Amino acid sequence: MSAGHPQGDGQGTLDIGYEKFPLVRVAIPRPVRKTFDYRVPASLSGQIAPGQRVRCPFGRTDEVGFVVSLIRTSDCPESKLKELRGLVDLEPKIGPGILELTRWMADYYGASWGEALSASLPSAVGKSSKPRFTQVVRLAEKIVREQWMETHAKRRPAQRRVLEFLNSEGDGFTPSEITRRTGAHSGAVRALVAQGILRLERVGSFLEDSHVQDPGRHELTADQSGAIETITRSVCGELFEAFLLWGVTGSGKTEVYMKSIESVVAQGRQAIVLVPEISLTPQTWSRFRARFSRVALLHSQQTEARRREGWERIQSGEIDVVVGPRSAVFAPVPRLGMIVVDEEHETSFKQNTSPRYHARDVALVRAQAAGAVVVLGSATPSLEAFRASETGKSRLLRLPNRVTTRPLPEVTVINMTSEAGMGRGKGPRLFSGLLERAIREAIGRGEQAVLFLNRRGFSTFLVCRRCGYVLVCPNCNVTLTHHKKTRRVICHHCLHEGPPPNVCPECLTGQVRYRGLGTEKIEEVVQALFPGIRMARMDSDTMTDRGAYERVLGAFGSGQIDILIGTQMIAKGLDFPRVTVVGVINADTLISLPDFRSAERTFQLITQVAGRAGRGERPGRVYVQSLHPDHYAIRCASHHDYEAFCREEMGHRYSLGYPPYTRLIRIVVSSPEVESARERAELIAVRVREVFLEGEVLLGPVECPLARIQNRWRFHLLVKGPDPSIVSRVHRAVNPGEWSRGKDMVTIDVDPLSLL
Ligand code: ADP
Ligand code: ZN
Repeated sequence: MSAGHPQGDGQGTLDIGYEKFPLVRVAIPRPVRKTFDYRVPASLSGQIAPGQRVRCPFGRTDEVGFVVSLIRTSDCPESKLKELRGLVDLEPKIGPGILELTRWMADYYGASWGEALSASLPSAVGKSSKPRFTQVVRLAEKIVREQWMETHAKRRPAQRRVLEFLNSEGDGFTPSEITRRTGAHSGAVRALVAQGILRLERVGSFLEDSHVQDPGRHELTADQSGAIETITRSVCGELFEAFLLWGVTGSGKTEVYMKSIESVVAQGRQAIVLVPEISLTPQTWSRFRARFSRVALLHSQQTEARRREGWERIQSGEIDVVVGPRSAVFAPVPRLGMIVVDEEHETSFKQNTSPRYHARDVALVRAQAAGAVVVLGSATPSLEAFRASETGKSRLLRLPNRVTTRPLPEVTVINMTSEAGMGRGKGPRLFSGLLERAIREAIGRGEQAVLFLNRRGFSTFLVCRRCGYVLVCPNCNVTLTHHKKTRRVICHHCLHEGPPPNVCPECLTGQVRYRGLGTEKIEEVVQALFPGIRMARMDSDTMTDRGAYERVLGAFGSGQIDILIGTQMIAKGLDFPRVTVVGVINADTLISLPDFRSAERTFQLITQVAGRAGRGERPGRVYVQSLHPDHYAIRCASHHDYEAFCREEMGHRYSLGYPPYTRLIRIVVSSPEVESARERAELIAVRVREVFLEGEVLLGPVECPLARIQNRWRFHLLVKGPDPSIVSRVHRAVNPGEWSRGKDMVTIDVDPLSLL
């Protein structure tokens, strides 16, 4: 292995005679914080540029690395420099902008440049360049086909078979589907194309042809027009600017995005729209699809070929608008004009493996370098985004009302400890009388209901009647969840599963009681309460493929389902005008989490779920069941009062020194040996304190709330301080690669969203 060097200059190497550079600097996608220099063999001279992937010897194996610069000299002694083995890409897959962006990511998140580069490129890209595009055949005019049939069909039986098949089945098949279905050889299809009887048409990405639904263009509200005008002016200025579009649910934010993007496209530039998780937002996608013709969807469930195809079309400038989840922030658009981050507060924008980047922040950095505009949209902005708008880092645009005159739904908080929430002398019930009645009436009027609970399974914990032992996973300190349909008890962290026990595994005599409430149990209770009701459950147990998701949403949209029960999956994005009742079965599940953001999460979730109600002509009502009805998160959400919530929460954050007033860094040490993890965490604490400035704080080390996962004990340290330089100082003090020894593992998470 060649000696390592601190990350090099990596710039100024474009468009100059590459053959003059006998060496390359390469970033390897491994957790090593340096780049490596290699010699370019004569056979590859002049064929290598920054952003290209190469195969290089690394230790005892070969690695695929990213060329970050071409260099003349290296600090590594000549004799130790190894030669590149070969090229992976014939042309650079990474442009200079993304090279710079990933270098920033590596520095800021404490990952290696190679890891950051690797995260920016879908694994499929460049793997093989064969099936570049999916093509389907289209039929020529009827008269042309009829003429052909008359004159040629007799002598060309295979071609005739193909044409007869397409005449009866309709076009839109791929050539290989046709040969499979007709038994004709592929030459027959090609021959028909050559004669102009068939035409090959490139089809776009996944889903492009399904679900096209444009609610049409509306007369814009005054607030929408104002926001669009402001953003458009900024787009025309071609300078970086960030906006926070704070609009209540149903205020028409998507329309603002689309109209603003039209001005980007008119300039010949491209826009990227980041959505929380594509499978959760098919409606958003279909609106963009209906409005823009040159639009691509990037998606983790796409086949490799599709993803590669999408990437290549984007790179070639064929695409105006890219829609996708967090990794779409790296889409190789040639002239970036705008990045929209829809539902900016969503936690799925943060990657939970290295590099632990937040797509919102990466978007801001990328746009800044490109002179592009960023629009962050949310009904419940994260406190970080809201604070940024207060300090002038972004401009606040407000949509305080729903479109037309639809009011926000009225929210009733039901105190489940009071009479309303009690069953007939048997303690708390699942459904308060109020919610039960509201559902019954809505269904009676032909309307629909949505019931939300953020726990799946049937019973969420199992406890012994006799000794009180609570069943935990053998690998994790986590209670097991009972799934009744599949007759299993499952750990939701390591997926350990087993049969449901009859007697307590601890005292070996006591009966096991099934407690706690999951979506599966709600389903059963709903069935008992409302016999004959048509309902569907949407959680990760029932939504095992994307098709299932679309089927259920389709059925719900067309009124074949009365009640939709689900977890987070149904909380956001859904726009069904016939939903008039929304029930939050248990609003308390998030409040009790040991995380300083638990109030914020609770407020966001209730607001988002409530936003599903009353989006059509008829007003909606929301019922929130809680044991803590006076908690400020629940109270403020029930009044649709983001500002009041924000004021109170900002106060707590300020006095406790949490973001957005400080930077937060989390260091996690895990090990199969509890003592080893603890000791290592304590050593790290000493190192970190050495780089502290006045006013900086270290919490811990303490056991993580999830103290053991998959047989590894976990300890964490939280570093916080108001000065942004704390990030680089901590990275300098603690290199996770060096601190991870044997089976002990150290990870650093900058701006963590999870503290569990
Ligand atoms: P949000 O994302 O703010 O919750 P949406 O963008 O989903 O809101 O818009 C809600 C609904 O209102 C959509 O069905 C959309 O087509 C419709 N809509 C958007 N703008 C207008 C308008 N100006 N007039 C009438 N309907 C509109
Ligand atoms: Zn487990």
